[in-house]
Amino acid sequence: MFNALRKGFGLTAKTMFRPAVTTEYPDVKRQVQPRFHGRHVLNRYPDGLEKCIGCELCAWACPADAIWVEGADNTPGARYSPGERYGAIYQINYLRCIFCGLCIEACPTRSLTMTHEYELSADRREDLIFTKDQLLAPLPEGAKPPPHTDEEVRARGITYYPGAQSQDPLATKEHSEETAAHRAMLDPALMQLSDVEYNHVERDRNIWTEYEEPQGELSDSEEGS
Ligand code: SF4
Ligand code: SF4
Repeated sequence: MFNALRKGFGLTAKTMFRPAVTTEYPDVKRQVQPRFHGRHVLNRYPDGLEKCIGCELCAWACPADAIWVEGADNTPGARYSPGERYGAIYQINYLRCIFCGLCIEACPTRSLTMTHEYELSADRREDLIFTKDQLLAPLPEGAKPPPHTDEEVRARGITYYPGAQSQDPLATKEHSEETAAHRAMLDPALMQLSDVEYNHVERDRNIWTEYEEPQGELSDSEEGS
């Protein structure tokens, strides 16, 4: 009995002056790995158009049946995405989602990616079914909210799927110029790359967090880093 007490107090005395290894959550947010699977985001092009084309591939890929998409046609006067269709209804049920990432692998336009946000809890079931307005990335600075008209989109003269253009062996000079304009819009540094190098960059870009996550609340807090 005395030995056990001595050992216990000895252990307490030995560890009480060591630095704490626990994280004082929620005051200090846990640092996540770059490819952490957090809440989803529906990305936009730099001009504000939505990347989602309402193809439903993400919903078909989801093993938990957590995604509901309904596509609708773009019209010349009301265009939400560069393709024929756009995602008119988009929902993710976070009571079902297992954060496997299969949906973002399936997305052909890299519309759907995953952020580092892991604080997902609510008191009501309805609050964990995220709708399109909650999932859409914020509008880039200076961009116009959709819908856009076909005229204004055409006037920008950009190619929304540069990977497909630059892989086309018959790509014309005009295609290359359009691709260059798109690169310049994304990042002027991309102008230095050849088409092949650019394709690799596009593919390997951090597909989990396509849009710039806001600093602060949900990233690592300054006091924690
Ligand atoms: S992360 Fe997995 S479970 Fe969650 S919505 Fe995507 S495919 Fe479905
Ligand atoms: S998020 Fe991607 S896969 Fe899902 S409907 Fe939109 S474009 Fe298709």
